[in-house]
Amino acid sequence: MSRATTPAADVAMQALRQRMDGMDARGPRFWRALEELADDAHWRDTLHTALPQLAALAPMDRRRFIKLLGASLALAGLAACSSPPQEQLVPWLRQPEGMAADTARFYASALACAGDVCGVLVETHMGRPTKIEGNPAHPASLGGSAPALQAAVLELWDPDRSQTPLHRGVAATWDELFGELATLSTAEGRGLRVLSGAIVSPTLAAQRDALLQKFPGARWHQYEAAGQGQTLAGTALAFGTPLQPIHHFDKARRIVALDANFLGSMPGRLAYARAFAQQRKPPQMNRLYAVEPTPSLTGAMADHCWPLAHHEVGAFARQLAGLLGVGSAAGAGVDEKLARAVADDLLAHKGQSLVLAGETQPPPVHALAHLLNQALGNIGHTVDYIAPTETADSADSLASLCTAMNAGEVGTLLVLDANPAYDAPADLPFAQAMTKVPRRIHLGLYRDETAHLCDWHLPMAHALESWSDLRAWDGTVSIVQPLIEPLYAGRSMHQLLAAMLGQPTDIRALLQTRWHPDDDESWNRSLREGLIADSATTPAKPPAIDAGFLAAPTLPPASPAEFELLFRPDPTLWDGRYANNGWLQELPKPLSQLTWGNAALISPALAAERKLANGDVVELRVGDRQLRAPVWIMPGQAARSVTVHLGHGRRHAGHVGDGVGFDAYGLRSHAAPWREGGLQMHATGERIELAATQHHHAMEGRAPVRAGTLAEYLQNAKFLQPEEPATPPSLYPPKPPGEYAWGMAIDLNACIGCKGCTIACQAENNIPIVGADQVKRGREMHWIRVDRYYEGSAHAPYTHHQPVPCMHCEHAPCEVVCPVGATVHDAEGLNLQVYNRCVGTRFCSNNCPYKVRRFNFLQYADVKTESLKAQRNPDVSVRNRGVMEKCTYCIQRIETAHIAADRDDRKIADGEIVTACQAACPTQAITFGNIADPDSAVSHAKASPLDYSLLAELNTRPRTSYGAHLRNPNPALGDDA
Ligand code: SF4
Repeated sequence: MSRATTPAADVAMQALRQRMDGMDARGPRFWRALEELADDAHWRDTLHTALPQLAALAPMDRRRFIKLLGASLALAGLAACSSPPQEQLVPWLRQPEGMAADTARFYASALACAGDVCGVLVETHMGRPTKIEGNPAHPASLGGSAPALQAAVLELWDPDRSQTPLHRGVAATWDELFGELATLSTAEGRGLRVLSGAIVSPTLAAQRDALLQKFPGARWHQYEAAGQGQTLAGTALAFGTPLQPIHHFDKARRIVALDANFLGSMPGRLAYARAFAQQRKPPQMNRLYAVEPTPSLTGAMADHCWPLAHHEVGAFARQLAGLLGVGSAAGAGVDEKLARAVADDLLAHKGQSLVLAGETQPPPVHALAHLLNQALGNIGHTVDYIAPTETADSADSLASLCTAMNAGEVGTLLVLDANPAYDAPADLPFAQAMTKVPRRIHLGLYRDETAHLCDWHLPMAHALESWSDLRAWDGTVSIVQPLIEPLYAGRSMHQLLAAMLGQPTDIRALLQTRWHPDDDESWNRSLREGLIADSATTPAKPPAIDAGFLAAPTLPPASPAEFELLFRPDPTLWDGRYANNGWLQELPKPLSQLTWGNAALISPALAAERKLANGDVVELRVGDRQLRAPVWIMPGQAARSVTVHLGHGRRHAGHVGDGVGFDAYGLRSHAAPWREGGLQMHATGERIELAATQHHHAMEGRAPVRAGTLAEYLQNAKFLQPEEPATPPSLYPPKPPGEYAWGMAIDLNACIGCKGCTIACQAENNIPIVGADQVKRGREMHWIRVDRYYEGSAHAPYTHHQPVPCMHCEHAPCEVVCPVGATVHDAEGLNLQVYNRCVGTRFCSNNCPYKVRRFNFLQYADVKTESLKAQRNPDVSVRNRGVMEKCTYCIQRIETAHIAADRDDRKIADGEIVTACQAACPTQAITFGNIADPDSAVSHAKASPLDYSLLAELNTRPRTSYGAHLRNPNPALGDDA
């Protein structure tokens, strides 16, 4: 790491430290960065004079740039024009007869993604999967989707995927492998160990059982670096048996999240987000209390969020239990007055409240949450329990495998779609133990760290190329169906196991036999809908809770001065499996806005105490393990908690993911996977520049967010509207009224900041990635960004998310300055960009107050490699260097609707056009439609007293408007709680 010279950052931090000394000093009401809160003059000057978009074209690392382009895009020599699937695929719902060949087709399927299982609809063009949407009929997605779901289509076309079986690095065949495995039968599988991730496929679980029956000497291990082990252990502690809680946020009026990121990382998160957001519509709003050591999407939506150290979360739960009369209030959590106010609020909503703990908390905290729910009468109302859908062992299973390998008891190790050589805890030297196994076989999408240590590496078929079944978090069985023949010589896990079992490898037939034997009609319906109807697990009345666990401390007591190190799955890369996905690497992480790498997140107080600025490199040491990491100052972080995200620092991810960030697994232990005490942290004097977007597209000190409280709204619903007229007079001629006038409304009250909209837009509109160097210059190409604003103190701020697409201004400032008429309005109010007219002056971008135009400074889009041609949406142009581009409100979808309406001689119906961002949004925060129709959903949204236009004072008359953000704080806590 080299030291970058950033004098401005030094000065800003000095100013901030001066303000932080008082800790109560405040800058502007809404702020995005600590420098802004500090109102540092030097930083302001820097921002003005060095706006990233205006920075000179500086020399760049050509090798890195070429590498990135090649990595995301190159698929030279491979069969991009694969044949259509050979098997019969049944389109979702009704397929119109006589559909033209270039018409997109949608197929229902399901994907396991980032610890969750979601139903999806996959869009294909002439047999090529190009886009993924949530399946509205599936309970886990309800039509919404998450960034990793959207990005699965890029993974399918990733040229770095393994393409052929390799034996000791030399191309081999599957038959050669099976010939070698035949010797297993004679030995009844003695010495055979299989390692997989959590099994959420009923058919895979059955194959596992059959394998263990056929090979009685074999053992099967499961390991997930970011699994649900503590959640299940928590229910086992409370009820005596592991159960999976199912939360009903639609019925919960008061919610307490104990380090529980149910909007960001919990299984069922998309459904939870929808139900939660629907209870945030004034005049009825739920109330969310959150305590957490590191900021999460859930804490960011809370009406009250208190940063507490990891062990203090358990203490707070005990405090609540004491106040609710189900335990003794031992240990300090939060201020007694605050805890009592929360307890009273819960008691006033018995049967309508919900307490939940996050996976990273230890089992006793989970058990306490269940006990609190029992005491509040919530069980059976706001929370149910079902048999667990996944059969994951804990890290203990990995530890026993390590022990067996070290003892020479393992003759054959078969690793199925897992990467323990990378993601095993540091105190389980898995890679070292593997070398003692004579025969090592790896099946996976990539030749990753584990594959490099194996004799055999087998390419795995992608989920979009395979048959399977998966159970969603509520038990619903979803059918995974292939959208395309395997691009390479890949086979699925099912096929490999079937071959080992001597069974037919027709997995489709296996699935039909399992779910709809001899019933083609039901089977075809399940394929169309993507799930087995009524297959959700029926909740059972759980046993009474044994409160004996209360006698044990939640964690060994920690000294208040002790630093703790927290591990979290990365918000976009999860446990590292998506590290080679350029879309996810470049997606700014929710809250930190970091791209292309990770950092040690520290509190503003700790930064002030240690005199650290963003990018300063520290050494983190736990016991005898240490690593170096740049720091990032996170408002809302608990004072002495340091958070690192897993999933970075890959050594064999592929061209995109190799060497990005640092590998936090190097500090993790299997006994304490989420929290280590006794952290030592020392500054090294080095600094690196992180690729963060939080300073980009700043609004020159204007206030883009409007926010208030439910109480203020109930007093005067228009309390956030300015007194001056909403539409000042203008010299521009009025736009002629037409049949259609497209507009968008974005509800900040519903937006949880997940950034599903950003990735959906990227996938739909062929938006390229640009790499870390270009992001540092402010040249990221996303057409819809999600700005994050803070309000209040740096210690515990309120957070506001604001998605910003093009405003499609009726009086567009960009249009009047274009010398060649490349940006123009159409008759329906769209502000359009004519790419082949654009000569790249960038005047339009300079004149756009919303900073939503994106310029191709370099040839970001690879127009040569076949894989990208196959992945791209054929309805959207690919832009070249020197061209400005921007959000079009998905004009290709508008035109498709026009064609359909013209064909049927009718008007476009309300809701018929759904933009990509709108479709992806799990909380339905985005509404799009015809504002010329007073009865349209978007007109109703814009009629809300909370609706406002961004920078309305500029009289640009944007077609995109926002619903102001309301909170529902507890009046008993006052404004400062
Ligand atoms: S608007 Fe975008 S960031 Fe906000 S909730 Fe919807 S998808 Fe997520």
